[in-house]
Amino acid sequence: MSDKKRLTTSAGAPFVTNETSKTAGPRGPVMLDDYQLIEKLAHQNRERIPERVVHANGWGAQGKFTVTHDITKYTRAALFSEVGKETEVLARWSTVAGEKGAADAERDVRGFSLKFYTEEGNWDMVGNNTPIFFIRDGYKFPDFIRTQKRHPKTNLRSPEAMFDFWAAQPESVHQVTILMSDRGLPVNPMHMNGYGSHTYSFWNKDGERFWVKFHFKTQQGHKHYTNEEAEKIIGKTRESYQEDLYNAIDQGNFPKWTLFIQVMPEADAEKTAYNPFDLTKVWPHSDYPLIEVGELEMNKNPDNYFQMVENAAYSPSNKVPGIGFSPDKMLQARVFSYADAHRYRLGTHYEALPANAAKSPVNHYHKDGQMRFFTNDFDNPDAYYEPNRFDGPTANPEFEEPPLKVSGDISRYEQQETMDDYEQPRALFENVLEDDEKERMYFNYAAAMSPCSDEVKERWLAVLKKVHPDYEAGVRKALENVDSDVNTVPVTDDSKVRT
Ligand code: NDP
Repeated sequence: MSDKKRLTTSAGAPFVTNETSKTAGPRGPVMLDDYQLIEKLAHQNRERIPERVVHANGWGAQGKFTVTHDITKYTRAALFSEVGKETEVLARWSTVAGEKGAADAERDVRGFSLKFYTEEGNWDMVGNNTPIFFIRDGYKFPDFIRTQKRHPKTNLRSPEAMFDFWAAQPESVHQVTILMSDRGLPVNPMHMNGYGSHTYSFWNKDGERFWVKFHFKTQQGHKHYTNEEAEKIIGKTRESYQEDLYNAIDQGNFPKWTLFIQVMPEADAEKTAYNPFDLTKVWPHSDYPLIEVGELEMNKNPDNYFQMVENAAYSPSNKVPGIGFSPDKMLQARVFSYADAHRYRLGTHYEALPANAAKSPVNHYHKDGQMRFFTNDFDNPDAYYEPNRFDGPTANPEFEEPPLKVSGDISRYEQQETMDDYEQPRALFENVLEDDEKERMYFNYAAAMSPCSDEVKERWLAVLKKVHPDYEAGVRKALENVDSDVNTVPVTDDSKVRT
């Protein structure tokens, strides 16, 4: 008998043929008892799982994180415990709005998610390529995402909905500015930064808490496409990110990022002019300088995309001792929402899949349910509840976080437009963006906004004017000049539809 592998059914029995159905005579119908055939067809029907509602289109790689600088005075997290320490990482980058199979080179925010398989469990840094976000309250998230996806009637993306929503949420102007600037269209995941965006917390061995922001700066340099360049790329390939990333790693050109943190003493949160837990704000570098921590290197293409990238389940709820949450409202909504999305998309036991399984021991009492294929029975069938007298796993009170000091009455604190909302985009516009980038940004706005109704255009231009009169004037002029024929017009009011 040769060692060559032979086909079997999924139950292990020899498969007689993989090509010929069992029929009643050479010209007769197929037999229902041809289980091999039925199994093959049934499996194909089940090869897809629900795609992510957001961030469906993604690209992944495996690699490692290495500590280069000591930050143990801020955190007791094991992955940062000593210089030189290496931790395995699984990364997934994504666009936000596009469905699976959408073109990679679209103007959009990019997801930048990292799963660190630490010795004390998985830490997921579920970030973006921007340090901020469009909204600061998770209550608005489903509506916001609805404006980014397809219109229920036209089944097209709707600039009218996007700018209508943004104009009603002026806090979004900071993020929209970045989206319309060069950084809104990176050439691939290797040429962009990653940010934790939210404020998280660190706590050290002495129980001191610090607020922290994470910045992964690309070592490849920033590179972006203009709209015209992206159109040409998409005309040639819709998979430009997958191709660039896969080929770079395959050829040994491993992309790297340097991790920096900003650290804020716990008490400062009461003092800063801006709310440090507002996801539409950065912490100015001059107030909280970047502190270098380590290096991320992605050096392996997953052997199976579906198993390691489609099945990858990132959630900000995955934190490890020494890293905690903050009162950031968006973060708190995501702590629930992301894990819940994976329970729906992948199933109850999604954390046991190879992409998500911790490399450290996993002991819990969540047991049965669909696809309960793992074993964690603690070598004693009597230890199936807790507390028990049968040596089952027990809790770890020594890992309790320092208590969060809060004061205030429970209410709904609406944060509508504040003067704060314009200061940081103004700093970006006045001090960071070069003149030529501003010109490109005006053009990008014009391309994006030209299909909108005049009312929505004016409302958004009024927001821009509050940031800076030159900003509004630049976009208005570009809108007047734009050749609107290049845009599709996904609004339902037929009078506004141009073909
Ligand atoms: P700084 O001058 O210290 O920082 C400006 C930062 O802007 C840079 O460090 C860089 O961040 C980022 N940047 C550089 N070029 C561009 C660009 N073309 N498009 C978008 N971002 C760019 O000033 P502040 O810290 O006071 O921030 C001023 C403004 O810069 C903020 O209001 C915000 O809009 C923007 N910004 C600030 C960041 C922060 O964390 N403080 C991060 C990113 C942007 P990086 O090094 O991360 O690439």
